[in-house]
Amino acid sequence: MSSSSPAPSGVVTRFAPSPTGFLHIGGARTALFNWLYARHTGGKFLIRVEDTDRERSTDAAVAAIFEGLDWLGLKSDEEPIFQYSRADRHREVVQALLAKGRAYRCWMTVEELEAAREKARAEGRAIRSPWRDAPPPTDPSAPHVIRFKGPLEGETLVDDMVKGPVTFRNIELDDLVLLRNDGAPTYNLAVVVDDHDMGVTHVIRGDDHLNNAARQSLIYQAMEWDVPSFAHIPLIHGPDGAKLSKRHGAQAVGEFADMGYIPEGLRNYLARLGWGHGDDEVFNDAQAIEWFDVKDVVKAPARLDWAKLNFINSQHLRQADDARLTALTLKALTAAGADLPADAQARIASTVPQVKEGAKTILELGEHVAFALKVRPLTLEEKTAKQLSEETVARLARLREHLAAAPVWGVAELEALLKSFAESEAVGFGKFGPPLRGILTGGAQAPDLNKIMAALGREESLGRLDDALASRA
Ligand code: GLU
Repeated sequence: MSSSSPAPSGVVTRFAPSPTGFLHIGGARTALFNWLYARHTGGKFLIRVEDTDRERSTDAAVAAIFEGLDWLGLKSDEEPIFQYSRADRHREVVQALLAKGRAYRCWMTVEELEAAREKARAEGRAIRSPWRDAPPPTDPSAPHVIRFKGPLEGETLVDDMVKGPVTFRNIELDDLVLLRNDGAPTYNLAVVVDDHDMGVTHVIRGDDHLNNAARQSLIYQAMEWDVPSFAHIPLIHGPDGAKLSKRHGAQAVGEFADMGYIPEGLRNYLARLGWGHGDDEVFNDAQAIEWFDVKDVVKAPARLDWAKLNFINSQHLRQADDARLTALTLKALTAAGADLPADAQARIASTVPQVKEGAKTILELGEHVAFALKVRPLTLEEKTAKQLSEETVARLARLREHLAAAPVWGVAELEALLKSFAESEAVGFGKFGPPLRGILTGGAQAPDLNKIMAALGREESLGRLDDALASRA
């Protein structure tokens, strides 16, 4: 195996998805915890695609998983490994186990297996094959599997970094199949061989694999290999505490992207699912890397909390680069069917910085720039039309002159201008703010007036104002 430079700290983690579907947020969080732990310890993070199950693995799923991981910014430190390509190596290890007397051939038929399973169940122990200690049959080339020869007594301890010590009675661990009758290696064998060969020191994965850890430990021991440290992390549940399923909404990382979450927002949120650093809710990668330790992952399942995700994402949105947010907003609007000529694109670019503080997602940013994309003359809402009394129209006409003469058209300058205009008119803001807002936005959702005008620019702002004043002339 192409094991390049060793990790300086010696820590090697890996994410080992089975390519049978999209990248689920549970998987994404597993990948993230492995990545964070590798970064925290100065180790290496690897990816291994577990495509041993040929019937269920698809190229489309492989592509979807890498797309999700790339989007999240979780890249393998080495070329990803594809498990199926290593089948010969897996078979070689089975030969070694046979030679050591730690594996045996089993010629049980399907019917015999079923009967043995029944018997084992009735006796409260795991299944053992009669071939474990029997001489081979007259025709040893008949179809058979190769099983691991597990210990009949004693216990196997999995000293899990999250769950604590968990002991399994060996009598309850079956002699699992290592090679199927067509010579195909099984999952539990392949995982052990690959983790060993990849130099994996820490296996961080979903706690649905805890039982496998005991079986896998026995294979390591039989091969006299070091057993890695295990950390089995609890699953993610829906807001109602039930196992996450379709009815809870989005599950694929790609869906979260389509809903307008940004990678750093989702990364921060996923890190908070089952792990935390005091009360710190919003943090960047450097902080997460500094603070993260897999032993601090909590034992209870984490619950998906949309409000928290929205809050965290909104905090990252406001820190994100304007040009990037503009590009993402354009992409989202175009994907939703909008036709955006160059002037609309320019309008979006000038509006995004003014509205990004109020948005939770890119989709919301798309909604919040809508006011700026309206085309003159805007249709005024009835509410605005009613506010345009003669007195107000005259006041807005005076304001127009101030605006036209403003030396600088910026957020701070416009705020000061509006304030001093109200003072010079000796009226409160309420006397002209609401109608002006209606005139400039046509009633669409929008930020503060000074920001609205900064986003629109002087020409468009005055144009919209002139249209309304002319309609009242
Ligand atoms: N391929 C397994 C899965 O997707 C993970 C196995 C492991 O991490 O050891 O559930």
